[in-house]
Amino acid sequence: MEVSDSPELLAYRLVGRDRTPDSTVIEVRGRRIGDGFFGLIAGPCTVETREQTLETARAVAAAGATILRGGAFKPRTSPYAFQGLGRKGLEILIEAREETGLPIVTELLDPRDVEEIAEVADVIQIGARNMQNFNLLAEVGRVPKPVLLKRSPAATVEELLMAAEYVAKEGNERVILCERGIKTFERSTRFTLDLSAVPVLKRETHLPVIVDPSHAAGRSDLVLPLARAAVAAGADGVMIEVHPQPEDALCDGPQQIRVGEFARFADEIRTLVALMGKTVG
Ligand code: PEP
Ligand code: MN
Repeated sequence: MEVSDSPELLAYRLVGRDRTPDSTVIEVRGRRIGDGFFGLIAGPCTVETREQTLETARAVAAAGATILRGGAFKPRTSPYAFQGLGRKGLEILIEAREETGLPIVTELLDPRDVEEIAEVADVIQIGARNMQNFNLLAEVGRVPKPVLLKRSPAATVEELLMAAEYVAKEGNERVILCERGIKTFERSTRFTLDLSAVPVLKRETHLPVIVDPSHAAGRSDLVLPLARAAVAAGADGVMIEVHPQPEDALCDGPQQIRVGEFARFADEIRTLVALMGKTVG
C-alpha cells in the first residue's frame, strides 16, 4: 500500500490537501474567500428585529464587510431562550441583502428546513453543535450552496476534517471551515481559541479556514486582539458578531461589538490582511 493510500489519508480524500494541493477559493456574489482572499464576515448573532438587523447590515457594509451574518434559527443551550425569528428572520435577511448587496450566511439547524434556507442563504452555516450531525451534513452536501462548517468545541481538528468530508462526499465541495474555540479548563474566556488549528488545517486541507473570535472569547474586549492573531496565523477570514446595543441583545450580548466600533475594527483588520499579502474580499 502506498503511503498516500493509508486509511488516515483516505479518510478525508476530498478535502485533504495531498490530493488537491491548490487552495480552494469560494466565491459568493463576487466576494471571495481563500487563497489570498480574506473574508470579513460580520453581523448580529441573531436576527432580532428588522431595525436591528438593517442598522447592523448598513454599518458593516459601509465599513467593508464582505458577507453579512445573522441567525434566524438559533441553537440555544436553554430550551426557554429565544430560538430566533425563523422564516420571518430569513425575510429580514433578504431585505438586508437587497439593501446592502452583501451575501448572507445563516444557520441551518434542522434537515426539514434545508430547502427554505438554501433558497435564501448565500452560505449555509452548520453550527458547532451540529458538526457531527451526519444526516444534516449529508443534507447540505446535496445543496448547491457553500457551507460554513463550525468546529465543535469538543472536536479534534481531524474530526472537523471528517465532518467536512461528509459534506464533500455528497458532491458539495464548497466548504469553509471555522475555528470558534474549544472547551478547556480555562474560565477567563467562554471557550479557548485554538489558533494552532489554523496552520494545522491550512496544511491538511485545501479548504478556506476562518476564525470566529466572538464565540471563542465570549467578551467583546477580546475580539479585536484575537481577530488580529487569527489574521497573523494565516486565517482566510474572520466572523464577527456586531449589534447596535449589545447590552440589549437577545443572544450573546457580551461578545458583540457595538455597531459604531466596527469601522475601526475593520480598518485594523484590513491593515493586517494587507501585511499578510492578502486582499479583503
Ligand atoms: C453562531 O455563529 O451563531 C453560533 C451559534 O456559533 P457556534 O455554533 O459556534 O456556537
Ligand atoms: Mn452568537
